[in-house]
Amino acid sequence: MQRITILGATGSIGASTLDVLARHPGRYRVYALSAHGRVEELAAACRIHRPARAVVGTPEAARRLAALVADLPVSVEHGEQALCEIASSDDTDTVMAAIVGAAGLAPTLAAARAGKKVLLANKEALVMSGQLFMDAVREHKATLLPIDSEHNAIFQSLPQHYARQPGAAGVAKILLTASGGPFLNRAVETLGDVTPDEACKHPNWVMGRKISVDSATMMNKGLEVIEAHWLFGAPADLIEVVIHPQSVIHSMVSYVDGSVLAQLGNPDMRTPIAHALAFPERIDSGVAQLDLTSIAALQFYQPDFARFPCLALAFDALRAGGTAPALLNAANEVAVQAFLDRAIGFRDIDRVIAQVMDAVPHGPAPSIEAVLAQDACAREAAHTALNRLRG
Ligand code: NDP
Ligand code: MG
Repeated sequence: MQRITILGATGSIGASTLDVLARHPGRYRVYALSAHGRVEELAAACRIHRPARAVVGTPEAARRLAALVADLPVSVEHGEQALCEIASSDDTDTVMAAIVGAAGLAPTLAAARAGKKVLLANKEALVMSGQLFMDAVREHKATLLPIDSEHNAIFQSLPQHYARQPGAAGVAKILLTASGGPFLNRAVETLGDVTPDEACKHPNWVMGRKISVDSATMMNKGLEVIEAHWLFGAPADLIEVVIHPQSVIHSMVSYVDGSVLAQLGNPDMRTPIAHALAFPERIDSGVAQLDLTSIAALQFYQPDFARFPCLALAFDALRAGGTAPALLNAANEVAVQAFLDRAIGFRDIDRVIAQVMDAVPHGPAPSIEAVLAQDACAREAAHTALNRLRG
């Protein structure tokens, strides 16, 4: 019986994970679930999955949750320390890291430091602290399995004993596919007017609102380039972004002998989740088999960096190294939230990030404290940039 903690159980990835687990009751048991503020959703999940522990964001949320689950044998807790505890407890084997944004860093790192099997959806944690996080995985013998569909596809297309050395494995390129999001073909001059709901309407995937906006700006792909760099030990020049609007091929690895290996499937996150949960076995995920004959065509294009300046900013941050990706991530989080709150326009997102990258000097990232200090500086600079935009 594998014992599972889900960080971010009320989110899109959290719900898909619970769906897969419910299909295999003899194989998995839920140890702990977390949410931030959506206590009714978490209470409903506790009623079905019967965790021993449930963690929310604030004392007030914990009081509300405790009242809703008073008849269940679940311990209700709150705060970052409690998140770190459910991620590192001796009573759990596997941690699904599915909190959105920088808030996921501390508990995800705690799981790595406790040597857990870490299923990584929370790409922001890796983007912020790539070297430190990968060092913790190695030092504490954690098992890191990618949930992000592209990275899961790359993982499946690499040799089984791949040791983060592309050259030694004969890898010529990592081809990271991108749908291009909802604005791939929209006239660039109209992008200033798009609403949060339009930006969140992804053509192929149903996701949380932050990652949906990231997909519309293609910052999501930028963060994924940095994520691929750390997961697979690949320098920026070895990673190529390919627009593939159908989202049927989830990414590819191109080898020096001319072979290209790809992973295909219907766009449903339960496939990579089931893959990582059962690895190296295979289990039913609930996803329908891909019907190849019903796919009329697969298309591929080069990305347009002028249409998607966030993608270029992310490549710049990766090449700059050190704390630059943490600055990029923090500025993006602030800008995306301001856009979702209708405080700025869609085209202001990349402007805010570029201003922060210019204003805040980056440096080496020797410790998590240094990364968090840079994250705080970037957020402050992003708020200054927002105020300037609001005039
Ligand atoms: P959602 O917004 O749907 O869910 C986020 C989860 O994190 C919720 O459980 C939420 O709790 C919790 N949360 C939010 N803020 C905090 C906080 N400050 N502290 C603790 N918990 C918090 O996001 P997604 O499921 O879409 O994405 C989760 C992660 O997975 C992201 O990093 C995303 O990039 C990545 N990912 C997602 C994919 C997808 O298909 N959705 C695909 C690939 C990667 P509450 O509900 O109470 O607010
Ligand atoms: Mg992805």
